Amino acid sequence: MIGGKLYADDTTLIKGGYVLTLDPELGDMPHTDVLIQGSKIVAIGQDLEASPNANVIDARHRIVMPGFVDTHRHTWQTPVRGVLPSCTLDQYFSGMLDNIGIQYRAEDVYIANLMGALEALNGGITTLLDWSHVNNTPEHADAAIHGLAEAGIRAIYAHGPPVGASWWAYSSKEHPEDVRRIRKTYFNSDDQLLGLALAARAPGNVTPDVARHDWLLARDLGIRISVHVGMRLTGVHVNHVGTLNELGLMGPDTTYIHCTDSTDDELDLIAKTGGTTSVAPYVEMLMGHGVPPTGRLLARGMRPSLSIDVVSSVPGDMFTQMRTALVQERILAFTDTPDIAFSPTITHRDVLEFATIDGARACALDHKIGTLTPGKQADIVLIRTDQVNVAPVVDPVATVVICADTSNVDTVFVAGKIVKHRGQLVRVDMSRLLDRLSGARDHLLSNAGVIPKWILSRRD
Ligand SMILES: [Zn+2]
Repeated sequence: MIGGKLYADDTTLIKGGYVLTLDPELGDMPHTDVLIQGSKIVAIGQDLEASPNANVIDARHRIVMPGFVDTHRHTWQTPVRGVLPSCTLDQYFSGMLDNIGIQYRAEDVYIANLMGALEALNGGITTLLDWSHVNNTPEHADAAIHGLAEAGIRAIYAHGPPVGASWWAYSSKEHPEDVRRIRKTYFNSDDQLLGLALAARAPGNVTPDVARHDWLLARDLGIRISVHVGMRLTGVHVNHVGTLNELGLMGPDTTYIHCTDSTDDELDLIAKTGGTTSVAPYVEMLMGHGVPPTGRLLARGMRPSLSIDVVSSVPGDMFTQMRTALVQERILAFTDTPDIAFSPTITHRDVLEFATIDGARACALDHKIGTLTPGKQADIVLIRTDQVNVAPVVDPVATVVICADTSNVDTVFVAGKIVKHRGQLVRVDMSRLLDRLSGARDHLLSNAGVIPKWILSRRD
């Protein structure tokens, strides 16, 4: 047993699961209990005792693991899920950002973030970095934050500028000052589920002077920076990371998303300056950002995190990302001759770490979440193993990475609170929310002129 015995009424005992702690000291622990008090894990071990009033959860036929961390999602796109299933990055910019994005009202952002966060929780993602660049007014930002808060997820709200070419094509507009109000209004305490970051535009999206201004703004506010770099667009020649280096702006407080077309020298600079990375392998291969750089990052001693990016084109769950990252990186070890044995090095356990502890590191939350460790926050997921697509279990890490999907996510805790129980989100009026979500879809797609005829002709 690790940790102490505790007897209190706000305890939950998760009993008899196969515990994947992801903590290198504790390892994998079969037939093991996890004891939660309040928001924290207080003990992990066999035959733990709790008070008679404790909430006891039978975890036999369950894998017990840390919640997934999605380090980059434009949650505001939830109402237009799947609208661009086979687009290129060029088409995404024109179709999604410059057409649908400009139609957003604050109320659309609210329902997007609420439903997007609930979708994440339903799939076992307990921490989400919401890369919110639809702040067409201050009310849009307020709505985004309210949506996340209402869902009960742990989130980093990464405040970005509005959509529209004037903000994104070598823009001379500085990051909106409204982020200072948001910092004061919502993020005065570190002891809450929501944190703040700056969703920054890279040099190239903005002039060098604006990049300098925006990085200094984030540092003045004491918040982390998340930035897209290295995505290839037709006819655009930029070295986002190299330019950030020339401007003297790189540092350990920055997460670099994609890095798909970044040069080796640029990746070296990220490693040298202690930055973290977010790879979104599905979208990067779908839209042609470039080849996901997982192996190139690993070769430099960096452990990438994983992200979903956009549900307008990508499944919203972490299982897809883990599997995509695994097979994409393995085939890169393929050579052009049968005389060299195929010998990839990345494994299923690597991608599970990317989706949990490495994601926590990319959000600077690894002291709080990312592993099941006594003293850390109780962000815990129970995966069922007695269902037809996952039984029988041989290697529990393999069960999670290659067999499981959202339908097996049985119970989810965020900071010790149950948000999904026995396969159902709790305290959620889904039919009311679905109506609002469809209403947002109809507004957005109608005004963008891309609503399918069948939606307009429905009979309800
Ligand atoms: Zn993105």
